[in-house]
This record gives sequence, C-alpha cells and structure tokens, in this order.
Amino acid sequence: TTPLLKVEGLKKYFPIRQGILSKVTGHVKAVDDVSFYVNEGETLGIVGESGCGKSTTGRMLMRLLEPTEGKIQFDGKDMMTLSKEELRKARRDIQMVFQDPYASLNPRHTVGKILEEPLIVHGMGNAAARKKKVIEFLEVVGLSSYHAKRYPHQFSGGQRQRIGIARALMTNPKLIIADEPVSALDVSIQSQVLNLMQDLQKDFKLTYIFIAHDLGVVRHISDRVGVMYLGKMVELADSESLYDKPLHPYTQALLSSVPVPDPDFKRDQIVVKGDIPSPSNPPSGCTFHTRCPFAMEICSKTVPQLIEAEKGHSVACHLYNGQFDNDIKSNVGGV
Ligand code: SF4
Ligand code: MG
Repeated sequence: TTPLLKVEGLKKYFPIRQGILSKVTGHVKAVDDVSFYVNEGETLGIVGESGCGKSTTGRMLMRLLEPTEGKIQFDGKDMMTLSKEELRKARRDIQMVFQDPYASLNPRHTVGKILEEPLIVHGMGNAAARKKKVIEFLEVVGLSSYHAKRYPHQFSGGQRQRIGIARALMTNPKLIIADEPVSALDVSIQSQVLNLMQDLQKDFKLTYIFIAHDLGVVRHISDRVGVMYLGKMVELADSESLYDKPLHPYTQALLSSVPVPDPDFKRDQIVVKGDIPSPSNPPSGCTFHTRCPFAMEICSKTVPQLIEAEKGHSVACHLYNGQFDNDIKSNVGGV
C-alpha cells in the first residue's frame, strides 16, 4: 500500500542576517534532510527537545511554512507543486491541533463560531447544516450543545483542547498533525485527552502525526516513533522496537528519564553531557557528538546516515554502520 504521507529530504534553512546591510552570514538548519512516511490509520510520534525541528516539520507538511527543499506526497498529491486552489483543498484534509489551545482560539468568538469557521472557509454546507455539525462535534469531543454559546475563557485547559480537536475535525480531515497537544495540560487531564484522541482515530479513521518532547507521552498512542535531534531524524522505528531496544544513544538517554511501570525492569542510565547546542552553529559530523557518552573519532568528522539497522528500525549513528561486532552492538543497544 502507498503511505498516506511520504516526506523525502525535507529541509528548512532559515537565513541568519547580520550587519546594517542584513547580509546573510549563515543558516539555521532547523530541519535538515528529514524523510519518513505515515500509513493510513496509523500514528507516527515525532519526539525531541525544543528546537529540534519537530514543529517546523509539522508546519511544513501543510505548507504553513515553505520548505527550503524536499518532497511531500500526500494522498496521491505532490504538495510542493499544487496550485493555490489545490493547496486550499488539500488543507481541508490535513488539520492541526496546537499545544496551546487558548492561543489558537479567537477569544472574541463563541465556540460555535470558532467551530463553524473552517466549514465557511472551505465552503462546506449551508448555515443550518453547519450549525448541526457544530453541535454534533461538540458532543463527539465530550462537550454539549450549550457550550456553543460560550467563549474560550469560560473553559478549562482540557476543555479548550477538546474544542481545538473538534475544530480540527470539522472538515473531515484524513491527517491530523498534533503539535504537543497535551504538553500544557495537567497530567490527569493529559490521559483523558489522549484517550479521546485514540477513540476519535478509530471512529473517524484518522491518521495522526503526534509531536511531543517526551517519549513517555507518545508511547501508547504511536505505532511508530521518530526521534529528532538538531534538525535531523536520528532514529525511526516501530514503537515496540524503539522502547524495548533503543539504538541511538540520544534515544537511550531520553528513555532513561522516562519512568517504567515495572519496578523490576531497569534501564541502563545514559546520561548526556551539557545542553543542546545552538542550531545556528551545530557540531560537525554527528551533531550529538558533543554530548554523546559513546562518541568516537569518526563522530565529529562524518555525518551518520539514517540506515535500517534491523527490519523497521532505522538509526543514524556510527555505532551501527557495520564496523563493530555484534557483541558491542548488543551491549550498546541492550537495556
Ligand atoms: Fe554518539 Fe557517534 Fe553515534 Fe553520534 S554517531 S550518537 S556521537 S556514537
Ligand atoms: Mg514546538
């Protein structure tokens, strides 16, 4: 089967300008040669620290942000060559849910108006049909018809995110890009919203890209997970494989800070040194080498490519490029 979304060689370079002539003196490689696919009905988690390029990637998929380079195939269409009108239509099928629903909901509009807006933008239905759909989707996300007359500030954080989700569903999208949808919510509310999203995925046959800064959050919702570091995808694998046997030292470090439910199960603690380097001046070779406890000579010289180390499990790290024997590999990868 063809994936619903296929991304190849996606890049976003922001120019760094300096001096009174605003001369371009370099580039921030916010997203640097990222490739992945998402099959229909599945959830791809994309995880990384702030500034790793995960949100920038999400925004480029809808072309809310223009890629510097790369291919985006969505639902049989080449997103990069669509006309304005075709792009507008394609955007009906891709919707976003944002981290901060309060910032993304117009405070002066009633919830009814907020939910109706995407239908108006895309010319879907007459006024009566739109009103009906607003009520229907308020109920779908666990709210009620009387909420349509209220304003965003009259809701709790969790309810506001339900409104953000309802708004994303109004146009019957195929793909939802959720950019840290639960990061701003209390832990107890997080799981309610995650459960709701999982139910909606089944009911509406949705495909998700779920962006998060924490591997714990995406664990149960994702079929596959990609880990990003300084604009690059450093590991991409089936969820089970990624959590059971993380290969990249950065993934191992992220996971060693995630609590495990089984008290007898202990992960090796992988501690990374220092802070994430500035994306405007990333380290040479493997950009993780300044923090990696396993860094070797080659690591500061050569960029490791994302290669399939095992079936359905890709990693960009020189530890896995065949120059090491299996003992060392299993030692590094084992947890
Ligand atoms: Fe560490 Fe080298 Fe692998 Fe980068 S390539 S993660 S520095 S071992
Ligand atoms: Mg972000």
